[in-house]
Amino acid sequence: MLDIAAVQARVDSGAKTSSVHAFNIEPFTRSGTPWVRFDIHPIRQNRRVTIRCESPVIDRRVVKSSNGQSEKRFVIRTPLTLNGQTWDIELTLANRDTMGFRMLLGREAMSGRLLVDSEEKYLFGTVSDEQVELLYGQTAPVPGNGLKIGLLATDPDLYSNRRLIEAGEKLGHEMVFLNIRQCYMKLDADSPAVHYRDGRILNDLDAIIPRIRPAITFYGCAITRHFESLGIFALNNASAITQSRDKLYSLQLLQKQGLDIPITGYANSPNDTDNLIEMVGGAPLIVKLLEGTQGRGVVLAETTKAAESVINAMKSLRANLLVQEYIEEAGGKDLRCFMIDGEVAAAIQREAAPGDFRANLHRGGQAQLTEISPEEEQLAIKATQALNLNVAGVDIIRSKRGPLLLEVNSSPGLEGIEAATGQDVAGKMIQAIEKQISSACHRTNAQQQHHIDYS
Ligand code: ADP
Ligand code: MG
Repeated sequence: MLDIAAVQARVDSGAKTSSVHAFNIEPFTRSGTPWVRFDIHPIRQNRRVTIRCESPVIDRRVVKSSNGQSEKRFVIRTPLTLNGQTWDIELTLANRDTMGFRMLLGREAMSGRLLVDSEEKYLFGTVSDEQVELLYGQTAPVPGNGLKIGLLATDPDLYSNRRLIEAGEKLGHEMVFLNIRQCYMKLDADSPAVHYRDGRILNDLDAIIPRIRPAITFYGCAITRHFESLGIFALNNASAITQSRDKLYSLQLLQKQGLDIPITGYANSPNDTDNLIEMVGGAPLIVKLLEGTQGRGVVLAETTKAAESVINAMKSLRANLLVQEYIEEAGGKDLRCFMIDGEVAAAIQREAAPGDFRANLHRGGQAQLTEISPEEEQLAIKATQALNLNVAGVDIIRSKRGPLLLEVNSSPGLEGIEAATGQDVAGKMIQAIEKQISSACHRTNAQQQHHIDYS
């Protein structure tokens, strides 16, 4: 028997079996028979209250869920009390938690017991908030719905990470710092999971904010992808981060959308160096390592001779590089637009330190508040869309022929932009998560609503 005092259930005669949303589902063996351990949040729209359950497994079944996807689920048997009567029902454990109804009562469980009146709601009464508190103790969600948000990063002391934790807590969420390297994953059809080195299972997060350093893109994206497969919302998804890390691929995607970029060349063989140089308009030109960041790996070659030697030297080290027209008229300045949820949340102009042409703040560039033109704003919006990022730092350079896209960053830093604009960028990132999760909730409830119409 499960120790669940009360749960609001949706009667769904369109479904054969009944189900309950469970998480941290872990099969185990007790006295030679299969058992399963799992957690349930019995209260709608609330993840504070968790009930740990254990039960023998009576079957494993492929079930089609309301979104049409098939999944293999554990089946257990448990007594159900409704309207003063108690009887045994079979229950499948759905491992994707939505915030809506945590339980669906299907035809089988109700056969001969209930007549469904599709017009009515809560025929057997509901449990008041006060009663829920008596049954489950303190349940009141903290302001802002009290989401549990994981910050997937490397260094908790970094300004951006400290700010995100602080902003999330200020908005009433539980913020958990997760060191990427200490996360590991379990791949399994029945009980996929992300574990933490200290023994925690991280499947109960509502969202994660991936802040993945370039050096650990591969592992960070793999963990992010695993969270996504558990139904956990990632502020930037793994495939968008992966493609943004490849400068050539991102430029191809931007160009495909018809967005303006500096003329850029790429070739594999050193034999093509001369043509490559000519293609981008000759020297002076820019050479970029495909995987460089923060201005490292971006070189200005002022003469054709210098360009040839830099390109050939890098090639001999087997480096992948881009050759790009030099936008001299920008005068070492560029724009950084901090994009959140499809809008420019803040924008700054960055100016390179004297003697440098790279405006990166890490290279000693100075940030200042700036007004961007509607054309620049549109370019930043379209670039973010083209790369499918919710949060992005879009770098734009002002050229004679108008604004050009330099690159799109999937983990843009907060320090320079918050300092120069006074904007609460971290807070806006958290609000973007709140918005996504509440609309996902509405979608699921609407789906369930829709589903019952077939009955
Ligand atoms: P990173 O990923 O290392 O930041 P970027 O492509 O953004 O690489 O280049 C770093 C900086 O170098 C830019 O912010 C800009 O100031 C300068 N820069 C890059 N490309 C060009 C270019 N084609 N013409 C002029 N300046 C450039
Ligand atoms: Mg840059």
